[in-house]
Amino acid sequence: MATPKPIARLISHVILDLDGTLLNTDCVVSQVLKPFLVKNGKKWDSKKAHKLVGKTPYEAAAVVLEDYGLPYSTEEFLSMLTPMFNEQWCNIKALPGANRLIKHLKSNGVPAALASNSPRSNIEAKISCHQGWKESFSAIVGGDEVEKGKPSPDIFLEAAKRMNTNPPNCLVIEDSLPGVAAGKAAGMHVIAVPSVPKRTAEFSSADEVINSLLDVKPEKWGLPPFSDWIDDTLPIEPWFIGGPVIKGFGRGSKVLGIPTANLPAENFSDVLSEHTSGVYFGWAGLSTRGIYKMVMSIGWNPYFDNTEKTIEPWLLHDFGEDFYGEELRLVIVGYIRPEANFPSLESLIERIHEDARIAEKALNLPLYAKYKDSPYLRNSLKEDNSANGNQSVIDSK
Ligand code: ADP
Ligand code: MG
Repeated sequence: MATPKPIARLISHVILDLDGTLLNTDCVVSQVLKPFLVKNGKKWDSKKAHKLVGKTPYEAAAVVLEDYGLPYSTEEFLSMLTPMFNEQWCNIKALPGANRLIKHLKSNGVPAALASNSPRSNIEAKISCHQGWKESFSAIVGGDEVEKGKPSPDIFLEAAKRMNTNPPNCLVIEDSLPGVAAGKAAGMHVIAVPSVPKRTAEFSSADEVINSLLDVKPEKWGLPPFSDWIDDTLPIEPWFIGGPVIKGFGRGSKVLGIPTANLPAENFSDVLSEHTSGVYFGWAGLSTRGIYKMVMSIGWNPYFDNTEKTIEPWLLHDFGEDFYGEELRLVIVGYIRPEANFPSLESLIERIHEDARIAEKALNLPLYAKYKDSPYLRNSLKEDNSANGNQSVIDSK
């Protein structure tokens, strides 16, 4: 992750991009594609969905055309699909950290604008589905309100003008290359939050490249800091996943000495695209054993440069044996850090152990500890476990 270049702490205004920055526009893709493929005599294959995650509409369209052998050009395909996407506006979810950032700026009196290449009416329709968003922006600029869209600086310059401020006072947050170029051309500071994974190197013109909005550190820019971190962890809206433990890459235990119980990723393509890569923690229920503290990564494991996004939960308990095939249920309650690359295997292992210590300690805090009793975890426990007096909840260490 790039460290921000030194800046004069002049930032007083924030300008946000919409699609891919605040909204997970990718997530509606499968909802639109499924029926379209059926109409074209093809069958939607959920195992292929992950290939579209993080791609631009154009790139994604090209992949679908090839994968399913559809007889259209990318342009034809996009022109047929665009109206269908337009009907899905209210199904587009906020990206992780978007609501938090918008609320933070508003409650701290930091003026924020929305600047998007899409037409003003589309922007209005999309944000109307998200409570409190419209009122949080002191200016909204659409692509149809200026002469040229991004990468031209026009949209951002117009946003600054409408907020009665000068470009050097503005911090732009953008997920796309044209957006970053536009922000720099406007003479503004730019944080890139690339929505295409593993392409951060391309964003070198940005002043800072971060993994997700969860990693925005406003104080670096002279803005009020977030106050929701607790003991090096960020509480998140809990999410629940589960399934049988399957074979993974086979290197958790062997290479790292850290076994990770893999879940079948194809069952979670929606969940995987909804959640940003990074290190998280929570509670894990194993059907025949009990409930344990857990730390996990989601992503591509930059050190190993995996091609598939996976979930890698490490249960903080010494089992002394494998438990492939057993039902594993997870509740993920907090965030620790973005995925990162490491100069050596030793430093990677050391950092994972540090993550485990953070998770271990934080899970004792009442706000996280209460999820140990989630019915979702408990329902997976076999009846006879408690009946024969076995401990059904085991705190590690
Ligand atoms: P794989 O690549 O097949 O997941 P790993 O080397 O990562 O192999 O080992 C993971 C397996 O080890 C899990 O599927 C599980 O059966 C077993 N295991 C043993 N102890 C643990 C633990 N504390 N956390 C996670 N998995 C564990
Ligand atoms: Mg594993």
